[in-house]
Amino acid sequence: MDNLCFQVSDLLGHPGADRWVYGEAKFTFEIGESSVSSSSATYAHVTATSLGVLVDGWSGVMADHVCARCLRKWEGPIETEWSELFGRHPGEDESPIWVDGMIDLGPVVHDELSLALPADPVCRRDCLGLCVECGADLNTDPCAGHGEEPSSPFAALRQLFGSES
Ligand SMILES: [Zn+2]
Ligand SMILES: [Zn+2]
Repeated sequence: MDNLCFQVSDLLGHPGADRWVYGEAKFTFEIGESSVSSSSATYAHVTATSLGVLVDGWSGVMADHVCARCLRKWEGPIETEWSELFGRHPGEDESPIWVDGMIDLGPVVHDELSLALPADPVCRRDCLGLCVECGADLNTDPCAGHGEEPSSPFAALRQLFGSES
């Protein structure tokens, strides 16, 4: 099943009439360091209004992330709740009901999941990232540091011996 199109002609003209629908669709898109290339799931409640239908939906999908700090990769769920009005003569910010009485939730779900995807994902809130000097992953491989000469505890000694010779 790869379809987010639903027939709603039987609801039209019966404000308040409603129905739950479920659909799956595969999406492929990329936002910054996050990407999606798997099947999404959508549960939606369709309610007839006087001019069309109101759809309240929940959509979820697995996304691939690359930590913006340490470059670690992981897979994690993205989910979002949304509402969209569909009309025979859609106004601005509304989606169309096709002449055959079908509505397509695909573009809405695609946009909502894109918005829910973090552009700069972080593997965990306190991720220490990579050492800017040597590239070590400071979460697993704490590097000894790259203090500049004056701040090194040996710098003063070195200077001392240097001045004596
Ligand atoms: Zn990280
Ligand atoms: Zn380092």
